[in-house]
Amino acid sequence: MADTPTPRPPEAVPPAPAMRRALRRVRDGAALDVTEASVLLAARGDDLDALLSAASRVRDAGLVHAGRPGVVTYSRKVFVPLTRLCRDRCHYCTFATVPHRLPAAFLERDEVLEIARAGAAAGCKEALFTLGDRPEERWPAAREWLEARGYQTTLEYVRACAIAVLEETGLLPHLNPGVLSWEELTRRRWG
Ligand code: SF4
Repeated sequence: MADTPTPRPPEAVPPAPAMRRALRRVRDGAALDVTEASVLLAARGDDLDALLSAASRVRDAGLVHAGRPGVVTYSRKVFVPLTRLCRDRCHYCTFATVPHRLPAAFLERDEVLEIARAGAAAGCKEALFTLGDRPEERWPAAREWLEARGYQTTLEYVRACAIAVLEETGLLPHLNPGVLSWEELTRRRWG
C-alpha cells in the first residue's frame, strides 16, 4: 500500500559474461528468455548505450514495416484520477492512499467533466481514468460514497463518468479500472 512502502532490495549486478551474451543476442535479433531480459535491466553506461541502439533499430524497423518510417504517434490525454482508493496493497504503488488523506472517496461527476473540458480545451483527445481496483471492497467510505449516488460498484460509476465525458466533451474515455471479469469486460464496450 502507498502509505506503508517496503524498502526495495538492492539491485543484483549480473556477471559481465551474462551481460555480453544478452547484448549479443539482442544485436542478433534473437528472442530473449526471462533470465536474459532480467540481466539487461542492469545495463548501465556503454552496455546501456548498446541496448538502446539495438532497441532503436527494432523500433525503426517496425515503423518501416508499418509503412510510416520515422513517424512515432502518440495520443494527447488528460488524467482523471477518479479515485485513489484501492482494495489492493501493491507495495510499489505511489498512487493509492487512504480515505482520511483525501477530500472525498471519488471525484464527483461534475469534477470529472471539468477536468475533461479543460483537457479538451488544451488539445487532448483522450480522458485517461486512473483509479484503484474495486475500492468499495475494502473501504466503507468508498462504498458509502457510491451508494449515496446510486451506484453499487466503482465499475458502474466509472462507466457513467466515461459516457458523460464522451457525450459532453467528445474525448475518448480510456479506462484503467483494475481487474475485470470477462462479463465486466464485455459490458464495458460502447455502442
Ligand atoms: S492495484 Fe494499482 S492502484 Fe491498487 S495498489 Fe496496486 S498499483 Fe496501486
